[in-house]
Amino acid sequence: MNKSKVAILRCDTYDEEQVYEAVKKGVDLIGGISSFVSPGETIVLKPNVLFGTDPQKCVTTHPSVFKAAGKLIMNTKATVYYGDSPSFRKCEWNMKRANLKQVADELGIQLADFDNGRSVSHNDALLIKSFVIANGVLDSDGLVSLPKLKTHALTRFTGAIKNQFGCVPGLLKGQYHIKLPDPYDFATMLVDLNTLIKPRLYIMDGIMAMEGNGPRSGKPKQLSVLLFSSDPIAIDSIACKIINLDPESVPTSKPGEQANLGVYHYESIEVVGENVESFIDENFEVIRTPPVPSSSGRMKTFVKNRISPRPAIDIAKCTICGTCVEMCPVDPKAVDWHKGDKSKSPTYKYGRCIRCYCCQESCPEGAIAVDNPLLGRIFFPLK
Ligand code: SF4
Ligand code: SF4
Repeated sequence: MNKSKVAILRCDTYDEEQVYEAVKKGVDLIGGISSFVSPGETIVLKPNVLFGTDPQKCVTTHPSVFKAAGKLIMNTKATVYYGDSPSFRKCEWNMKRANLKQVADELGIQLADFDNGRSVSHNDALLIKSFVIANGVLDSDGLVSLPKLKTHALTRFTGAIKNQFGCVPGLLKGQYHIKLPDPYDFATMLVDLNTLIKPRLYIMDGIMAMEGNGPRSGKPKQLSVLLFSSDPIAIDSIACKIINLDPESVPTSKPGEQANLGVYHYESIEVVGENVESFIDENFEVIRTPPVPSSSGRMKTFVKNRISPRPAIDIAKCTICGTCVEMCPVDPKAVDWHKGDKSKSPTYKYGRCIRCYCCQESCPEGAIAVDNPLLGRIFFPLK
């Protein structure tokens, strides 16, 4: 059986020339850019721009990695576009804040339409048979995905697979959280999204990763690694190995194999380039236990409130901006102003909360963390 190939290279810096050399070498190790892109094609670069932020904060794919990928693809005489759909504000606003628009303008790369989309059916899906996908993705010949290596409260880790959630325009993403409150169903939806979009190539930025309270409010952590593959499950699995996280704790791994999207068992992956062992950070701060499945039936609310980890606001850090209230997708809101009083921090009604962590992900102050109730600490410790 052919193994999936993941290339791994050390890069200690975001110096543009060094990153370009590393990106070119990494792509060459898995077949070279001409095996992924043909002259005359229209290719969309999809960085992770969860929320446009200074690249030093490590929320977004670094502009040097974006630039290197753009230059490499432009060398093939393909036409390159770029885009992402954060949940908050328009694509262009976020791209400017992440310094990606400036780099794209320098290269002459146009912004694709990620603010609007249209519905497409996906009859071979495991769970979700139709999606609304950004016009920019649908109008292209192919996608090159540029994920950032970060932690994530819901899926434990965000890398290659999760990056394509940004191909669903704007607030529609929240609807998937409402429809699929079980983290394993949500993960299967992400796999379906990937078997529909099928990016051709993944270049993962782990030079400076994010640990702890990711994907937006964690701490930058130098891992000095760039990863390359055409298999999103395999590249995520090797990234997990580097951060000492069992890929079986990441809920996209199993449905990813089931859907033939890729492989996560190490014996099915050929690592080329450098020795993965030399990158392993055993103390990387990440939740190493699998997500708690949603319960059903009469015990549902009882179990959820007493066992499931939940978002909690640190009032000392909260600036009362209201973003968490705005982003909460459930109706009525599970985090809201207490009796409409906007002079104090919002409060939670955990019985309504589906544990999507959109509030934690969107808080600009890092004031929301994942808290584990007493019974949760006993039965499902977050270690
Ligand atoms: S309170 Fe937070 S975690 Fe709960 S449903 Fe709202 S956004 Fe999701
Ligand atoms: S998003 Fe963060 S800072 Fe803003 S109100 Fe909510 S907890 Fe406070």
